[in-house]
Amino acid sequence: MPPERIVNKRGRARRVLAKLARSYPDAASELSFGTPFELLVATILSAQATDASVNAATPALFAAYPDAPRLAKAAPRQIEPFIKTIGLFRTKAKNIVAAARQLVEQHGGKVPEDFQALLALPGVGRKTANVVASNAFGRPGIAVDTHVGRLARRLRFSRHDNPDKVEKDLEKLFDAKHWTFLHHALILHGRRVCHARSPACESCRLAADCPSAARPHPPPMSRSATSGKTTRKAR
Ligand code: SF4
Repeated sequence: MPPERIVNKRGRARRVLAKLARSYPDAASELSFGTPFELLVATILSAQATDASVNAATPALFAAYPDAPRLAKAAPRQIEPFIKTIGLFRTKAKNIVAAARQLVEQHGGKVPEDFQALLALPGVGRKTANVVASNAFGRPGIAVDTHVGRLARRLRFSRHDNPDKVEKDLEKLFDAKHWTFLHHALILHGRRVCHARSPACESCRLAADCPSAARPHPPPMSRSATSGKTTRKAR
């Protein structure tokens, strides 16, 4: 198949964005948080875990450790009981305490708005930095998690597996003012419709603009036992 012309891809991108806006007008983070510090901690905890499991654990954690200075004084083993229902909880306990200490030592106990400073925090990669920068500080960002990456590839907006490359491809196709919405809407669409194993293409509003949409297959051919002619089976 010849490569799609960029003008066509941009047209598809515009239509996909419009359909996502109609389907998910209120798309937003499903993590519960009240401050940038809480969002940073919740996002670190959410790696390879569900938002629901994080939201179940964080109220008690934030009640005991409401800000970076208090979390920085804790030992990771004191944090573990609060988050033991979340995957990789020992590593995450170490990371959030180390991040809190760095916030205290280098940023006056506050979460920095600067993207590179966010990236330098323990347990923070581009995905987490983008989530915090966009949701806490209004900086446009496309955090590429498993859903965003899968949707970008199925929609042929990217051919890459590497999340950083997917992020760059999406940034080229969509205006910056739409990046944060696009991130949230693609996650919701991945959770509700375009599932990893069996995407519900038959009920997907993006199907007309999706090169991966499953098309209805013609009924299988069968050979008549008497005439030897090949005919389509009735459905
Ligand atoms: S048409 Fe199918 S593959 Fe394409 S976005 Fe929708 S559910 Fe996913």
